[in-house]
Amino acid sequence: MKARAAAGDARRGTGASSGRRTARRPTGGFPCVVCGTPVRRTPRGKPRRLWCPRCLYRIYDYPRITAGMIVLKERAVLLLRRAHPPRRGYLDLPGGFVDAGEWTEDAARRELREETGLTVGPIRFLGRYWDRYFIRGFGFFPIIGFYYLARWRRGVPRAGDDAASAEWVPIGRLGRTGARLAWKHMAEVFRDVRRAVR
Ligand SMILES: [Zn+2]
Repeated sequence: MKARAAAGDARRGTGASSGRRTARRPTGGFPCVVCGTPVRRTPRGKPRRLWCPRCLYRIYDYPRITAGMIVLKERAVLLLRRAHPPRRGYLDLPGGFVDAGEWTEDAARRELREETGLTVGPIRFLGRYWDRYFIRGFGFFPIIGFYYLARWRRGVPRAGDDAASAEWVPIGRLGRTGARLAWKHMAEVFRDVRRAVR
């Protein structure tokens, strides 16, 4: 999944406070829009909320939408290896954040084109998956990934800005090679790919 410019690696801590000692606890919260105090997340419960401990301003912890493409060529799937943080060197799938006003299937095609240059045939819906994503200054926020399946039509995968390399991996080996996956939800995606393509 393509990273946003503001994205940072979770292991690097929370934005401005990383690398130096501060009195503030690393809440991962961004400033309250009313009073500027770092907001907090309700630990559990549904629906989850962000709230300000000072002025009690509240908003829901709305998810962001991402879209990804599973490209099939014979009995192999295209995987990318990430070139940049977060999760440099980890395996990834073509995909990224959906723009405002863009349909998820169009976003999946756009991200595939931007990241690999490949052209695919008709696409079909595979499934949707919950995960979370870290952005410096905002902390972790929930995401829903919409994934689509398509057959490779033409092009040799060339790694775009975000990917160091692209490779075709046999379906039977997906998620079973001990390789590090960039996102937790990829194991669920792979499970569904194995079920969908027999
Ligand atoms: Zn406040």
